[in-house]
Amino acid sequence: MIPIVPAGTPPAATADNTQLWLKPGQIALPGSPPLSLYVHVPWCVRKCPYCDFNSHAVPGKDGSHDIPEEAYLDALRADLEQSLPLVWGRPVHTVFIGGGTPSLLSAAGMDRLLSDIRALLPLDADAEITMEANPGTFEAERFASYRASGVNRLSIGIQSFNDSHLQALGRIHGEREARAAIDIAQRSFDNVNLDLMYALPGQTMEQCRSDLEAALSYGTTHLSLYHLTLEPNTLFAKYPPALPDDDLAYEMQDLIEARTTEAGYRHYETSAYARPHREARHNLNYWRFGDYLGIGAGAHGKLSFPNRILRQMRHKHPATYMAQAMAGNAVQEAREVSADELPFEFMLNALRLTDGVPASSFHDMTGLRLHAISRPLAAAEKKGLLEADPTVIRPTELGRRFLNDLQEMFLKD
Ligand code: SF4
Repeated sequence: MIPIVPAGTPPAATADNTQLWLKPGQIALPGSPPLSLYVHVPWCVRKCPYCDFNSHAVPGKDGSHDIPEEAYLDALRADLEQSLPLVWGRPVHTVFIGGGTPSLLSAAGMDRLLSDIRALLPLDADAEITMEANPGTFEAERFASYRASGVNRLSIGIQSFNDSHLQALGRIHGEREARAAIDIAQRSFDNVNLDLMYALPGQTMEQCRSDLEAALSYGTTHLSLYHLTLEPNTLFAKYPPALPDDDLAYEMQDLIEARTTEAGYRHYETSAYARPHREARHNLNYWRFGDYLGIGAGAHGKLSFPNRILRQMRHKHPATYMAQAMAGNAVQEAREVSADELPFEFMLNALRLTDGVPASSFHDMTGLRLHAISRPLAAAEKKGLLEADPTVIRPTELGRRFLNDLQEMFLKD
């Protein structure tokens, strides 16, 4: 195990650490996995009571929601510059600007961010560039500018079209703003994802159906449909609302499965549904255990070297992150993933995919021989949780339904 890089490491140490990561290690990767870039924007108009993301409320003054945009963009550029020795020369296939609420950035701010990324990284000509946006922060002109700057996929946090559920979720928008946001998005973007949640506090089957039909009526390329869960350290965990029981939640899931299929979407990942060839390329790279550089407050990254895989985390609080990034220390923690943690980390992601992954990608992405997981693979097959096909690692329908149990079979002893 390589020691944690202490906070306060001087800037010059970044290059030294690169040398450290290049030393012989426990694994031998045959090549570099595809590389993506994640950029975190850590502010929201208000903190939702179910949210455990690294997002911080920016109370608006006179209706505006001022974030320290210039200073944050400076920090992101400094962070990216410090990261270059770790990804030198590797093409970047996808970019995801997430949060928080990236649509709080001005049009000029987004333009500057994408210019900085293009200037510093070899971005593919057809790179997928997604940005997250929340209703209540939409103006047609600004979204047209985002598109002109190069954002080519928009992911909108709708969550529900029902005013009382939106209120219970602490969202800043109602049905009207949700619909207006989709209209504005579809004027400039042909690749749009809608995030929706189900099993909401007090939600009935009919209300779930009505949300789903509303979402389907827009014919967007992608839908992400999440079961609301109570995450630790959230307001909902402290004061839990009454949620639909498991049976009702399963019925909702079955309805979602049936209606999305009828409407031409494919359920290709636990929570993701896409029209043909419109899967989220950025997320697919995570699930296939590809690499990603994560910049911005609290962003996580995973980077591969010939003999090791590194995980990084940036300073979490925006003010600390900005100060540390400008001082050359954006990374708070970096650690090597040990060889015996890799099988679980790989399977945790791969098993979310309906099609699974080619069996050969286990070696390509972890540098370990498939033999390292032959015992749990055989046990999962025997239980009917994995397909009995030696060329792929693919969950059965039963395996998808009991995904947690299946994933846990690959935990180290
Ligand atoms: S808008 Fe999204 S990121 Fe922001 S607090 Fe709500 S759930 Fe979290």
